[in-house]
Order: sequence, then structure tokens, then C-alpha cells
Amino acid sequence: MTDLSSLRQDEVDENARSSYFNLPALDVSVAFPQATPVSQFPPCASDYYQFDDLLTSEERAIRMKVRECMEKDIAPIMTKYWEKAEFPFHVVPKIAALHIAGGTIKVLYTSGIVVTFFCFLWVMGVLVTLLLHLQVAVAEIARVDASCCTFFSVHSCLAMLTIALCGSEAQKQKYLPSMAQLNTVGCWALTEPDYGSDASSLRTTATKVEGGWILEGQKRWIGNSTFADLLIIFARNTTTNHINGYIVKKNAPGLTATKIENKIGLRIVQNGDILLKKVFVPDEDRLTGVNSFQDTNKVLAVSRIMVAWQPVGMSMGVYDMCHRYLKERKQFGAPLAAFQLNQQKLVQMLGNVQAMTLVGWRLCKLYDKGNMTHGQASLAKAWISSKARETISLGRELLGGNGVLADFLVAKAFCDLEPIYTYEGTYDINTLVTGREITGIASFKPASSAHRSRL
Ligand SMILES: Cc1cc2nc3c(=O)[nH]c(=O)nc-3n(C[C@H](O)[C@H](O)[C@H](O)COP(=O)(O)OP(=O)(O)OC[C@H]3O[C@@H](n4cnc5c(N)ncnc54)[C@H](O)[C@@H]3O)c2cc1C
Repeated sequence: MTDLSSLRQDEVDENARSSYFNLPALDVSVAFPQATPVSQFPPCASDYYQFDDLLTSEERAIRMKVRECMEKDIAPIMTKYWEKAEFPFHVVPKIAALHIAGGTIKVLYTSGIVVTFFCFLWVMGVLVTLLLHLQVAVAEIARVDASCCTFFSVHSCLAMLTIALCGSEAQKQKYLPSMAQLNTVGCWALTEPDYGSDASSLRTTATKVEGGWILEGQKRWIGNSTFADLLIIFARNTTTNHINGYIVKKNAPGLTATKIENKIGLRIVQNGDILLKKVFVPDEDRLTGVNSFQDTNKVLAVSRIMVAWQPVGMSMGVYDMCHRYLKERKQFGAPLAAFQLNQQKLVQMLGNVQAMTLVGWRLCKLYDKGNMTHGQASLAKAWISSKARETISLGRELLGGNGVLADFLVAKAFCDLEPIYTYEGTYDINTLVTGREITGIASFKPASSAHRSRL
């Protein structure tokens, strides 16, 4: 065997070029013939309590349509793109063809006119939602690939939702139809390098000038921002000191978005650092309904429902994969599924999936009735993502060595869940939102030094 440490660099390079060092990796189905990789997605085995019965026929149809597309078109390619940390732009038309973007949003016009753009129902003035439609779709996308789901959710459940909730009628008419078809892709920029959990203290400024506004500042972590056609930017109005929202167009002079490299999760999502250097936004692109951080919070409450459904879907997919794998893989002369310890883990995962699904379902029903509180949305996001962490971590164990390979889904889901646990309010912050609601006491800020000195 060659002692590489004794070789000069040019000799190492030559070795790599000319010998077995440089052979391509074996295809995983050849290297490990006993179990089927994720490119052939496993059948759904996780609906143990027949959640389908709680869905309308329309919701079930959406579920099956999205599931079929994800299993057939998306599952075979995502491992490769995840490994390369690249976005597969060619899948966007496939997702667009599902007609689910903005699927929650119905706007009621007072005239009583109802206009339907794909999943949009426009009737005047009042915004109504069919939340479960979208969440069923979100879970099905996440079941196969969490990055694909985050791309979709940032566009649909943050950017579109903000325009629908906080935009003027003209802005809704101008942007939402094209966004619903994914001809225009959006992103949503709240977080800044210095203000993550403490987002309401953000420092990007918006200064009124003739005919519009000048935005100045920096954003971090913004999903889809490196290629989005429009960017929803939150900034502090220098006159009122309140948070306002703006629709900024790609290629606006002074705007740059650069990709954040080296992520361990959601590697396909293109998260960006945004720099705004004297970016001019015309008056018509200020979101008239964002006049304080409370308005941003209205969007976050709904988007947290969406984020809660992502770990539900991911846990379903991981359970489905483990269920198949344990029956295919044999050790000690028996399938892994025959060992009691493995069955216990599998059952624990299945129980979690049932409970997570029911919490998510109930949250949608509360929202649709107009009864959902911020605390309830936060509890669901925090609790479901922590249960998903437990579920997916059990799945990672069950797959042994293959549990660290993206080719068998579980390792990818394991890593993808970490940013989901953190974004849209970390587990801690969402817990504190619920804590404030149930006790009436906010404890986001450390006790004052005066209070501390008395202790
Ligand atoms: C992959 C990814 C995608 C994202 N996409 C977007 C996007 O599209 N748009 C966008 O605007 N943002 C996005 N974010 C940003 C995300 O919302 C923030 O990362 C998140 O809010 C946490 O902020 P932080 O990372 O600055 O953590 P920090 O706020 O620095 O928190 C670090 C730790 O301290 C804890 N902590 C902070 N404050 C308190 C407190 N008061 N009490 C107790 N514990 C506390 C936190 O829970 C956490 O554990 C994304 C983030 C990631 C990782």
C-alpha cells in the first residue's frame, strides 16, 4: 500500500489521477443491495389512526396529488442536490403544476365577486383561509424533502401570505396571481446579523424621500433570497421608529444577496446575506398593512402553523423509511424488525407521528374558526419540532450506519430538522410566547439588574 505521507504533493495528485484512488463511488443500491434507498420512496405506513378520515375529499385529493409528485419526481433527485447544496430549479414548474402556492388564501371582496386563481379565492375585504389544504400539502412535501418544503413555504406561507394579509388591493392584484403560479418567487427578510430572536429590535432603516423610501441595512439567513424575484423586507421607519414592510425587486440598485455556505441542514435552500445600500423603493411598494412589529407577528402566527406541519411530514417520511428498512435488512438471521428493541423504537416513532398530526390538525381548526392564539401556534411549533427531533433521532439509530447516509433519507431529515427547530422562533422563544400567554408575564428579557441585586 502506498504510504501517502512520504509522497510529494505532485506525486499524490498523480496517484489520484491514475489509480483506484479516483474511482467514482459505487451506486448505493450496488454497495448495499439489502435495503432500498430513498430514490424509491417507501409507501406511506404512518397514518395509523387514519388521519385521512378527518380530511375532506378535497384535502385528501391534494394530499394524494402532492404525494405522487414528490415520490415520483422529487425523491429520486434530492440526495444529489442536497450533497451539492444546489437548488434544483427544474423542479419549480413541477411544484407550480400542483397549484398549491398560496393555497390558504381567500380574499373576500365586499362586492361579493369571487375570483379564483388556482387555489386563490378572492372575495372582497376579508381574508379567509383554508389552512388545512395547505398544511396537508406542506406535510407531503416535507415527507420527501424538507428543503423543497422550506423553499415552498418561504414563498407561499411567508412572502405571499404577507402580501395577502398586509398588502393593498393593488399589490395583491399585481403580485399574487403570478406568485401563485411560481412565475414570480418571493422571499421574506426579517432577521438581521445582530437581531435573530430579538427581531423586533431590527436596525435596517426606511427613510421617506420624494416618491418612495430609501432602505439601508443588512439581513441574514433569508431563504430563496439569492434568486427571488421579489423580497419582502422589514425595516424601521426613521420618522415613526416603527417597523414597516416593503416589496423590493430583484436587481434593485444597491441590493445584493449572497449565499450562506457550509450549512449542515436544509442544504438545498439558498439562504442569503442581504445588503441594502440606499435601495430606493417606490411608494406603491410599501406594504400599507405593516405599521408595527405586531403586524409582522400576525404573519408569524400563521406561518408557525406551517412550520409546525413540516416536522410532521418529515417524521412521517422517516417512519415510512424505517418501517420498510427494518423489514428488508437482516442481522443475526432475522429482519431488524424482529428485534423487540427495534419494535419499541418504531412504535414510539409511530405514536409521536399520530400525536403531532392531531395537534397540527386541531391548530388549523382553531385558526379557521378565528380562535387560535399566538401562544397556541407557538406551542404547536415548539412541541411538534421537539417531538420530531426525538422521532427522527430514533430513526437515525434504527438505520445503523445507513442512518448517517443521505441516500436513506433519515440522515438528511436529521440534519434538516435542526434549522427548523431554530427558525420561525427557536424552541425557547416559542415556549416563552406560550409562557407569556398562560401566565401573563413576559420573560424574554433577563431580570433587571435592580431585581438581580435584591436576590
Ligand atoms: C436555515 C435557516 C433559514 C432561515 N430562514 C429565514 C428567512 O427566510 N427569513 C428570516 O427572516 N429569517 C430566517 N432565519 C433566521 C431564524 O429565524 C433565526 O435564526 C432564529 O430566529 C434565531 O435567531 P438567531 O439564529 O440569531 O439565534 P439567537 O437569537 O442568537 O439565539 C441563540 C440561542 O439563544 C436562545 N435565546 C435567545 N433569546 C432568548 C431568550 N430571551 N430567552 C431564552 N433563550 C433565548 C435561543 O433560543 C437560541 O437557543 C433562518 C435561519 C436558518 C438557520
